[in-house]
Amino acid sequence: MGGRGSTYNHSSGSEGQPYRGKFVTGSGHAGIDQLARNAGFSKVIVSEEYAKRLDSDKHAPQLLGAMLYNISKVERIFHVLQDNKTELVIAPARRKTTIASMRVDNSRMQITSQMTSKDIINATRDGIKEKWFSKSGSTSKVNQVIAHVPLHEYGHSVANQFHKRTGKDLTRAVRKELGYNKKLPNVSTYGERSSHEWLAETFAQAFGTGGQQSEATRALKKVLREQGGYNV
Ligand SMILES: [Zn+2]
Repeated sequence: MGGRGSTYNHSSGSEGQPYRGKFVTGSGHAGIDQLARNAGFSKVIVSEEYAKRLDSDKHAPQLLGAMLYNISKVERIFHVLQDNKTELVIAPARRKTTIASMRVDNSRMQITSQMTSKDIINATRDGIKEKWFSKSGSTSKVNQVIAHVPLHEYGHSVANQFHKRTGKDLTRAVRKELGYNKKLPNVSTYGERSSHEWLAETFAQAFGTGGQQSEATRALKKVLREQGGYNV
């Protein structure tokens, strides 16, 4: 992947379990563990390498806290983490540019990367400004900038749960709602990678605090409400 704005990416599948080092249970920061439980995670698993960073990188606890806070807001609506007993894994990703990932079976969300917390925030902000990512929040507020990452991953979880509930593919259901003949509306450059990334990017825009609603976000919400039974 190249070009401006391609500073980082989300991924799913095998990236969910890339780290081969040692892990500890709990972050060592009571506030973060509590936020993770509030958000609905069953367990926090932290690489020893990242546990050290939580002490040395002063922005790291703040960044994680903001991510977890944003997850807890959508979890109140969808309850996908509790239903699936999702573990939160905090560890460097295998690839330099990966910031977060979600396992296809929802059993694990991994957040954080090889980047420093400050670089993650800046990369996300630049990504939103350059339309690499959808506009899920204000680029002048750190809490809203960083909401993009967890909201995007959470969007994948909601799609996974929707499939479990209804037997339907959420992306396909939204596409049907929009009209099969039409090309998927552009939501972000990253969303053009695949229809599943399009869905996650649309989800981030639909449920972010600064996201402008569009034809796509309205169609997504309508499908979630009418076919998934979600209160959105
Ligand atoms: Zn994704």
